[in-house]
Amino acid sequence: ARKFFVGGNFKMNGDIQTIKTIVENLNKAQLDPNTEVVVAPPALYLLLVREHLRSGIEVAAQNVFDKPNGAFTGEISVTQLKDSNITWTILGHSERRTYFGDTDAIVASKTKYATDNGVGVIWCCGESLEQREAGETVDVITKQLAALKEKLDGEAAWKNVVIAYEPIWAIGTGKVASTEQAQEVHAAIRKWLKENVSEKVADETRILYGGSVNGKNCKELATQPDIDGFLVGGASLKPEFVDIINSKQ
Ligand code: 13P
Repeated sequence: ARKFFVGGNFKMNGDIQTIKTIVENLNKAQLDPNTEVVVAPPALYLLLVREHLRSGIEVAAQNVFDKPNGAFTGEISVTQLKDSNITWTILGHSERRTYFGDTDAIVASKTKYATDNGVGVIWCCGESLEQREAGETVDVITKQLAALKEKLDGEAAWKNVVIAYEPIWAIGTGKVASTEQAQEVHAAIRKWLKENVSEKVADETRILYGGSVNGKNCKELATQPDIDGFLVGGASLKPEFVDIINSKQ
């Protein structure tokens, strides 16, 4: 069975004090031991979070570069993440794709580099409202997946990938995808993995839903057979994040 997975993407939010408070609340909370929990603070606070957060909860970067070191001003490397005990990274978030030029090919290259070098990747995909209304949702996601597959060779690399389906129209809007909408896309992703990678990868890869998940809507989404967890933005900064971690019945 796939272990339920909940990630908290703080995005560019928080300061030392508020982030310490979030960490203290997580340290005190009763968390379902059957859920894998990963939090992704801004890069500046990765070490702070790692130092204060209890063991058993992992820490993720929100982005990482695909070169070992060198003259790449503003970037951080996979080696630096590992040196700091940061075991995951988010890659390909729609905000990175929209504002910072992360193309399908760049995201695939970064994902390959991170997985090859032992950092897990929460790899994000998702369609815009315009694409959904034009009936292109599955095509858009299939194209994003195909670009990833081109770079990732073999089942070993996929083992270190968690897929996050995040419809852009649901991110930060309060408009969560319906249970049916999310399940439908998750099933399509799993089918694509089965037909294009392998049955094993399709069976084992966690597919998370992200986009306006909160303490109230998480429970019903978590009942769906192909929803293996969540990638949470705004609500990961609030106490209700614990309810989302504990949402799987
Ligand atoms: P919200 O939960 O704030 O909609 O953000 C979702 C997201 O983008 C997580 O990566």
